[in-house]
Amino acid sequence: MATNPPKLKTAITANERLHNLKKTFEAKYGESPLFYACAPGRVNLIGEHIDYCGYSVLPMAIEQNIIAAVSVNNSGTIQLANTNPQYKDFTVSCFEDIVVDRDNPKWYYYFLCGVKGIQEKFGIAHLSGMLCVVNGTIPPSSGLSSSSALVCCAGLVTMEANQKSLSKVALAEICAKCERYIGTEGGGMDQSISFLAERGTAKLIEFQPLRATDVTLPDGALFVISNCCVEMNKAASSHFNIRVVECRIATKMLAQKRGLDSSRLLKLAEVQMALKVLHPEPYGREEICKVLDITSEQFSTELLSANTQHVTQFKLHQRAKHVYSEAARVLQFKKVCDSKPTGSIQLLGDLMNQSHASCRDLYECSCPELDQLVDILILAHPHPKMLAALHILYLRFQLV
Ligand code: ADP
Ligand code: MG
Repeated sequence: MATNPPKLKTAITANERLHNLKKTFEAKYGESPLFYACAPGRVNLIGEHIDYCGYSVLPMAIEQNIIAAVSVNNSGTIQLANTNPQYKDFTVSCFEDIVVDRDNPKWYYYFLCGVKGIQEKFGIAHLSGMLCVVNGTIPPSSGLSSSSALVCCAGLVTMEANQKSLSKVALAEICAKCERYIGTEGGGMDQSISFLAERGTAKLIEFQPLRATDVTLPDGALFVISNCCVEMNKAASSHFNIRVVECRIATKMLAQKRGLDSSRLLKLAEVQMALKVLHPEPYGREEICKVLDITSEQFSTELLSANTQHVTQFKLHQRAKHVYSEAARVLQFKKVCDSKPTGSIQLLGDLMNQSHASCRDLYECSCPELDQLVDILILAHPHPKMLAALHILYLRFQLV
């Protein structure tokens, strides 16, 4: 296979896009942008839903991104606009606390997450005024992390507008934390790859401390990122956070059974041990409280998130099983990329297929449309060197 596979012509080149953004900015605000900021989306090759459990993941950035055109002023306001008319204008005052309404996750609240993160990092009392127009090409709510690209872009914009400077790692850590203002309790992969990605390489992202290591994929491997066109808005639903809290509770249960101090442990990676202490699903609140020796009140405030308070039954065993097996697959994937044995591409494909099966059956974060797409791609097997990097949609059907 050619090392440079033929590319479909995209509707618009990067230069045309920037030019159009500049024109929109000028038409809207009557002045030219002072600077532009850009943050890419990503596809996770392997390591689904394990970053928030403390495990390493293996994503790469994609061409689709969020860009912002910005000018700075002392108007005392931040004015946000979007080239997509679906996303309405919004203005906030630089003299009032920035409020992110997680019950109503409009696009500008993601932007304000990034603003707030930088403001808090530097303790900025009064932010610089800004005029801003955002343009994005990442399909939203499709598992390519448009939300984090937007938060990261906003963090970058705010840092620059307020004449601050940070390393990429620091920016990634701040943006991972501040995206949680919107309510989704992610683990930090998306913001990390958005800042730390480099052309021509995937990255193994490890946490605590955050670091990114190049993973060179085998020559000729071609990744197809296909969209099953089912959307899942993570902040507007509780599906994502239910998985997060289930893993958190599984951690506590495992720790408690093993006589560890469960009050200090939050991540499965921190308590990696035999799964057999967990019984078949599901677990009820009462039983969990009993094992952990906590009150129902403590359970709600310390373990659940705001949007998972209604959940009464938890699938701890299968969620933990996915996380532990997926974490092992990430390491196997990296090993194949590093040692490049014969049949590397087949081995990587097998790991990705196992990952999908685990997401589908144990983590239940797929949907019928995505499963069908995966089946079609596996059956079609259009080229022996083709891998299907299917971006995984977070579940939209049958939940507890
Ligand atoms: P994803 O998997 O893409 O991160 P999320 O549900 O986490 O999906 O985030 C999607 C949300 O991000 C959208 O509902 C929208 O509010 C915001 N978003 C994505 N792309 C854009 C964009 N180009 N402009 C403004 N907001 C965007
Ligand atoms: Mg997201």
